[in-house]
Amino acid sequence: MTYQELKAEENQYVMNTYGRFPIALDHGEGATLWDVAGKKYIDLASGIGVNCLGYNNEALIAAITEQAHKLMHVSNLFTTEPMVQVAKKLVTNTGMGKVFFANSGAEANEGMIKLARKYSFDKYGAGRHKIVTLINSFHGRTVTTLKATGQDKFHNYFFPFTEGFDYAIANDIDSVKAKIDGATCAVMMELIQGEGGVLPLDAAFVKQVEALCREKDLLLLIDEVQTGIGRTGRLFCFQNYDITPDVVSMAKGLGGGTPIGAVMAAKTCCDVLTPGTHATTFGGTPMVCAAANCVLDTVADDAFLAEVRAKGEYLKEQILAIGSPNIHGVRGMGLMLGIIVDEGKHAEFAGKLIDKGVLAITAGKNAVRLLPPLTISKAEMDEALTIMKEVF
Ligand SMILES: *Cc1c(COP(=O)(O)O)cnc(C)c1O
Repeated sequence: MTYQELKAEENQYVMNTYGRFPIALDHGEGATLWDVAGKKYIDLASGIGVNCLGYNNEALIAAITEQAHKLMHVSNLFTTEPMVQVAKKLVTNTGMGKVFFANSGAEANEGMIKLARKYSFDKYGAGRHKIVTLINSFHGRTVTTLKATGQDKFHNYFFPFTEGFDYAIANDIDSVKAKIDGATCAVMMELIQGEGGVLPLDAAFVKQVEALCREKDLLLLIDEVQTGIGRTGRLFCFQNYDITPDVVSMAKGLGGGTPIGAVMAAKTCCDVLTPGTHATTFGGTPMVCAAANCVLDTVADDAFLAEVRAKGEYLKEQILAIGSPNIHGVRGMGLMLGIIVDEGKHAEFAGKLIDKGVLAITAGKNAVRLLPPLTISKAEMDEALTIMKEVF
């Protein structure tokens, strides 16, 4: 079908919840995609930081195919090897305690919020339920994670939202202190605010929040849905900040393009959720876990992560070297980068890049966001840089 034919049927049959770009994608290879008309794009978005091993990755396809032949799904009433192996890899690479599997970032965050509230309930009884998050954060689209998100525009239409969230100013420890009271059980944050504009938190602030959490026995909840799985040049971004979180949520990159989320808790709180308190039908399903095992076998490797950091540095340097007056800087870490342009101009630049064959997305008020496959080649980066030079 042509784009026009597909779009007509989409308009008829699919709910209109997305402002989609006028492209129907068809297939990919490495970090390169083709649309239904055969036009080629260098992909600097990888879904939204999902396709970390790129397209048509032989090892990933083999892992999924092999598992599909054996067993695609059983319920969580039974044990399966792929699920146990993913958990073991996550724990042994981080020094944390145990994992709960979900299907998406929002669900992982729901699990993280439930764990924090129950940790506090078990230890201190009712009433200690409040979670402090940061202004400009993004934590998901369920009724609870919308309220956890520290942006007013998300707190509309769907009233009443879940109670018990309050918002502090990022990089301002006094603001966090002011929001904490006897009803608080946790602080939840992204270390690089992704949707908010690719805004890395200050290292000193993050350490101060960690110390505050230890002092008051609040759980430190780190949302690594976007920053996790090698995106920032470490398996998890918290490893760049030298902190010990209590709970980490993840999703996007973990399945390499298959839907999976997870909550990983430290040894001190990984037994809080018990039979009957939390569950899901699909979480940890074997076919998706086979994909996650392949992703972790590739990404949780010092040489691979060093390459991610080197590629990120290269892109950052080369983008700055364009020397365009339209580029005001590049923020971010590893292969999670934001090109800073004039406020409100980011969508226009992303649109022009897409027209010319580079898929980029936007973030916040002024960032053109780059989240390429972690496996992107030098040749693909150079092809994208040539087009960026033209556009900027
Ligand atoms: C994408 C994202 C989410 C939501 O993930 P879904 O899989 O879309 O539910 C939550 N937190 C952060 C930081 C994200 O980037």
